Amino acid sequence: MGYLNDGIRLYLQSLVDWDTYFRLRKGDDVDVEQEVAALQEVLETAAQICEEIAEETRPGWYEAARLEDGQVVYPEHIRRGYEKLREAGLISFGVREEYGGFQLPALVANVVMQMIARADAGLMTIVGLQAGVAEDIQQYASDELKQAFLPRFASGEVMGAMDLTEPHAGSDLGAITTRATEEGDKVYLDGEKIFITNGGCEVHLVLARDDDTFEASKGSTKGLSLYLCTRTRPDGSKNGVEVVRLEEKLGIHGSPTAAISFSRAEATRVGAKGEGFKAMLALMNNARLGVAAQGIGVAEAALKSALEYARERKQFGIPIADQPLMKNILSRMTIDVEGSRALLYRACRLLDINRAIEDALGRPELSASERAELDQTYQRNLTRVRLLTPLAKYLATEVADDVTRQAIQVHGGLGFMSESLAGKLHNDAIITTIYEGTSEIQVSFALKEIGKGALSVAFDELAKELEELSEPPLGEYADKVRRGIALIQDTFSTLLQDFNYALMCAQALADVVVAVIVGAELLKQAKVDPLRFDLAASWINRRMNDLESRTQRIREGGVARLDRCEKIISLVE
Ligand SMILES: Cc1cc2nc3c(=O)[nH]c(=O)nc-3n(C[C@H](O)[C@H](O)[C@H](O)COP(=O)(O)OP(=O)(O)OC[C@H]3O[C@@H](n4cnc5c(N)ncnc54)[C@H](O)[C@@H]3O)c2cc1C
Repeated sequence: MGYLNDGIRLYLQSLVDWDTYFRLRKGDDVDVEQEVAALQEVLETAAQICEEIAEETRPGWYEAARLEDGQVVYPEHIRRGYEKLREAGLISFGVREEYGGFQLPALVANVVMQMIARADAGLMTIVGLQAGVAEDIQQYASDELKQAFLPRFASGEVMGAMDLTEPHAGSDLGAITTRATEEGDKVYLDGEKIFITNGGCEVHLVLARDDDTFEASKGSTKGLSLYLCTRTRPDGSKNGVEVVRLEEKLGIHGSPTAAISFSRAEATRVGAKGEGFKAMLALMNNARLGVAAQGIGVAEAALKSALEYARERKQFGIPIADQPLMKNILSRMTIDVEGSRALLYRACRLLDINRAIEDALGRPELSASERAELDQTYQRNLTRVRLLTPLAKYLATEVADDVTRQAIQVHGGLGFMSESLAGKLHNDAIITTIYEGTSEIQVSFALKEIGKGALSVAFDELAKELEELSEPPLGEYADKVRRGIALIQDTFSTLLQDFNYALMCAQALADVVVAVIVGAELLKQAKVDPLRFDLAASWINRRMNDLESRTQRIREGGVARLDRCEKIISLVE
């Protein structure tokens, strides 16, 4: 399984409508073939560089960033990896061409992230955040800030951090108390942030509560604004931003995780006052897709290592890969990685079309009816992306956690040795289920979107896609997915009866929704590449059985299950 593998090529060559994408983005004169060839070239370069990085960085996995005289010093392998990516222009790849970036489609950008994560998950955390910060500046900052910072992000000269978390504000960002005080034409930040990736970097995007509405807005995400704060003031003097400490972690050691103190730190607002949470959500949603890609990259590395080992390790006279139970484990790992990939790429494809529509809507020659039609597509896609983003992050990161754990098991005792690659990958995978919103927060977000009507939009589109998959042998499986959709629809009304019960079932609901969406996407893959049929069929058989029992359990239960949970937990002294 190479870095640029068949799963990726399938999307690049057959499953993305690049024609529509590039015409919307660049107009009818665009040479689509040339544009796709350029994307292919970027991916080939990224694959080659990442393979080199993997070789060089793996021995340095335990090396962590250090704090020396208030400065964060990155380990040598991270510095070298970053430099290689920078030389190839593979930093902040979403930055628009006018600012010196590649403006890569989200699909391609996330494939690059996936490759970087496969080589070194810590390096990917650094680069991923960097890309996210640049895109937020691009979307929300003034022209002046864009001109000042985006070219420097695109060239990799400056690094970025996103400063949200505080000791009492983790999942609940409404609890943020870092204060932004306006004095004349200046704004000053005061407060403490923790767990900040890239904390020692030059550019911080900080979510802070505005002083004038501080008390009234406390405990909510209203009254939060987004601020750009540099460690050096424009006149070259040191700003009030200090790295207080670096954390020691279970994994992603090369990525520094810092506690930061802001003390009368001069800052500039990005976007509208009081709208900071909304702007940060845009960054977080992009970053969630990035973390999904990170999970897939780490899981791919674990899968490859497990397969290689299982083929060469002999027990009872045969390779362990030939034991029926082991075959089942290895194929399930493969299916889960491919399922996560299918969901992430589906989300990216929709996001890309919407970004291209934004470009098209900016062209004056569009007629009113064309505009209305594009706008309608945009809104439907937006609803779907908002549902798919948390689901993609949830699925890919939980799969990464599971597949890396299975990879340890495949290696037997060797998997538990401190130098084990599978063990390292598992330690790296765990964080993906936590940052950018934990898995519990992702499924709660998905539930919220479902509550707003996203499911019917998503299922309408799915029904159309399933109609195209009616030929044997796919048709039988398309029917199974249809039955799954009907069961979810029947079940959903039970959840509407009680909000707490709905929250309690959010994970089960996410699992069954993922089961049908990924099932259809894998069938689409199998239509283009018949070699993928067994993978799709196996996903559908397993997940639809599971779907039946889970939807039944949801339908038969009620909020009383929460009381039962409490009674059970109370048994623990
Ligand atoms: C290595 C690392 C890097 C990070 N990088 C950054 C960064 O660059 N910038 C930044 O701002 N932050 C960063 N974070 C912080 C990260 O985003 C938070 O740790 C994460 O959002 C969870 O917050 P918390 O740790 O306070 O956990 P809590 O919010 O206290 O959650 C604890 C547990 O409770 C669950 N929980 C909480 N609320 C609910 C709910 N409503 N329903 C169900 N379950 C719930 C959670 O799922 C979790 O299992 C980083 C963290 C780490 C460890």
